[in-house]
Amino acid sequence: MTVALSVAALTSLVNRILVSHGMSEDNAAIMSAIVVAVERDGPRSHGLFRVPGMVEMLKSGWVDGHAVPSVEDKAPGLVLVNAQNGFAQIALAAARSLLIEKTRSQGIGMLAIRNSHHFCALWPDVEPLAEHGLVALAFVNTRSYVVPAGGRARLYGTNPMAFACPRQDRPPMVWDQASAAMAHGEVLLARRHGKTLPAGVARDRDGRPTTDPDAMIQGGALLPFGAYKGSSIALMVEIMSAALTGGHFGFEDDNNPGGYTKNAGELVIAIDPEMSGGPLFRDRAEGLFRRVVENGNARLPGDRRHAERGRATEHGITLERAAYDALVRLSV
Ligand code: NDP
Repeated sequence: MTVALSVAALTSLVNRILVSHGMSEDNAAIMSAIVVAVERDGPRSHGLFRVPGMVEMLKSGWVDGHAVPSVEDKAPGLVLVNAQNGFAQIALAAARSLLIEKTRSQGIGMLAIRNSHHFCALWPDVEPLAEHGLVALAFVNTRSYVVPAGGRARLYGTNPMAFACPRQDRPPMVWDQASAAMAHGEVLLARRHGKTLPAGVARDRDGRPTTDPDAMIQGGALLPFGAYKGSSIALMVEIMSAALTGGHFGFEDDNNPGGYTKNAGELVIAIDPEMSGGPLFRDRAEGLFRRVVENGNARLPGDRRHAERGRATEHGITLERAAYDALVRLSV
């Protein structure tokens, strides 16, 4: 059985859950809007599915729900934020307008967030910057789940990154992907639904290939996507999001109970495309996008998300009744 809810109704429910488990009203407003936007657009492995984990992290004190980020205007093109052990999205919200202002005046701006937790999709971190006309890149590292190409044990996080580009009279083009062959959240979802993993994405604790999600979760590892090429990207994401920000690497993990995330970092780079690419930037990007979609069955990244968004706006967000009931129980 399923139930359909409007974005507003679901946001208010998630907001109540977060506030009742120790998040400030201001922080809950930011996080509930993002979690529901991800549930609406996808991927669902990083939307409402994450709420019970967020609650556990708040209850255990692993994440501070009342964190007030401190924003430092470090240099003409650089903003540093200490998230004060809160969620990275709250730190980003606190510093976004300064990043935009710097990017507009300098042509490029960088935002380095440390002492933060990321537990969601990355596209909501970059899409608003492209809505302001900027090209944006974001990098986040996670706990160690991924074995480097040729290696034996977990070292890198699943290390997602996202890219956003403004478009002509349309929502921005955004891609958002893990640098692992599969996101860890997708492995958790597969386990929950009793599904196997695709071949070639995971190893068990003895280093043997496995399609059993539990064997990956219980001491196994994920592989990087594209063998050594994805491995190099995961390496870069560790440097960008941990070493450059003062966040922890994936392997510097405290394994605190209730801590699904690590005290990590996020790096966001924003570029004013018209300053570097000139006034024809959007026309040129559109020309490229047109060639992609005219090429056989190719599509642009984000097209599926926008289709989901359109459907949810019209018909509401559909949830399994049991999942909805579990959320209601968490809210009281
Ligand atoms: P997917 O492989 O599902 O999708 C990656 C990107 O590729 C999306 O932008 C998607 O667009 C695009 N895409 C998919 N199929 C096509 C296609 N046929 N043609 C063109 N583009 C396509 O994502 P992942 O499984 O790698 O990651 C899932 C999520 O997990 C991400 O949101 C990521 O941020 C999140 N994550 C978060 C972590 C954290 O710690 N916070 C850790 C790791 C991952 P579309 O959406 O339109 O299909």
